[in-house]
Amino acid sequence: MKKYNFNPGPSILPEFTVKNTAEAILNLDGSGLSVMEISHRSKDFEAILNKAVELMKEILSVPEGYSVLFLHGGASLQFSMIPYNFLNKKAAYLDSGSWASKAIKEAKLLGEVNVVASSKDANYNHIPKNYTIPADADYFHITTNNTIYGTEIKKDMDSPIPLIADTSSDILSRPLDISKYGLIYAGAQKNLGPAGVAVTIIRNSMLEKVVRPMPTMFSYKTHVENNSLYNTPPCLAVYACLQTLIWLKELGGVNAIHKINLEKARILYDEIERNQYFVSNVVDAEDRSIMNVTFVMKEEYKDLEAKFQELASSRGLVGIKGHRSVGGFRASIYNAMPLEGIQALVAAMKDFEKQA
Ligand SMILES: *Cc1c(COP(=O)(O)O)cnc(C)c1O
Repeated sequence: MKKYNFNPGPSILPEFTVKNTAEAILNLDGSGLSVMEISHRSKDFEAILNKAVELMKEILSVPEGYSVLFLHGGASLQFSMIPYNFLNKKAAYLDSGSWASKAIKEAKLLGEVNVVASSKDANYNHIPKNYTIPADADYFHITTNNTIYGTEIKKDMDSPIPLIADTSSDILSRPLDISKYGLIYAGAQKNLGPAGVAVTIIRNSMLEKVVRPMPTMFSYKTHVENNSLYNTPPCLAVYACLQTLIWLKELGGVNAIHKINLEKARILYDEIERNQYFVSNVVDAEDRSIMNVTFVMKEEYKDLEAKFQELASSRGLVGIKGHRSVGGFRASIYNAMPLEGIQALVAAMKDFEKQA
């Protein structure tokens, strides 16, 4: 049976990425060596890394004066690296979900944190609005897509201070105006590649703000100056990311994938609205994520949740169980999820309504 992988992360990747990476593990471009066996300082690997940086810049239209880094430690290490590098007096954070609150926790270890707004009291079912960004803070940190709750900030905001964004679960899903950000970062395992690597895009002038001494590996300067080769990078993961970037460029880049993503999300949200059994977890339609679609059974049908879960599993729809802090269901419909996957899920929802 054909399986559709709705897992939140690690998650679905393009077949192109998986196949090419499998081949390169056995034999990299006919070299007779595995991509796992070659030196990270070899010409072959440098070409892989440079191409990945170049494509990331091209696809996201990264302006001059920015560096693209491939780093270890996932998005969670960036939660610490950001305040180590940039929190000198005070930092501002938007608390829009558990990942945001984990980032806040790390910043608090290093200085004063101003949480400008939070939707925690509503179990993060919307993006907090109507706040002011304090002009005297060192930076303002946001999470563009809240993977667990299914909310998303879809517009690049204006900020009087450097804007820093965790884009782990929506990077490359739509165009971003990088010039509005001092730094963006993303763990690869949602929309780009396997776990083990995080991408950071940093405005080089941000490095002038760094005053705190810190471990060498924590310093963005180390990685910018060494082109992500200060130590051995996660070579295999970088190779896989490169495949996804090649795939995305062929497909037409972020403008093309954004159109497809909007259509996929629309079809699924329309069915959630129409179906008598389900309801969206996110009240405000404007906040609804196009990457992680969270929905629950209506109050009166709560006891039917397991039954729908069973139907979904029997049809090869994998990974739609909601996060324990929200319950219900979450369909993660990242770039690599084909339209047919959405159609299969919608068909299951319609059939469930008929049977139940
Ligand atoms: C998954 C996720 C993280 C954590 O990523 P790791 O690479 O596991 O540290 C952080 N932020 C967001 C928005 C995520 O979706």
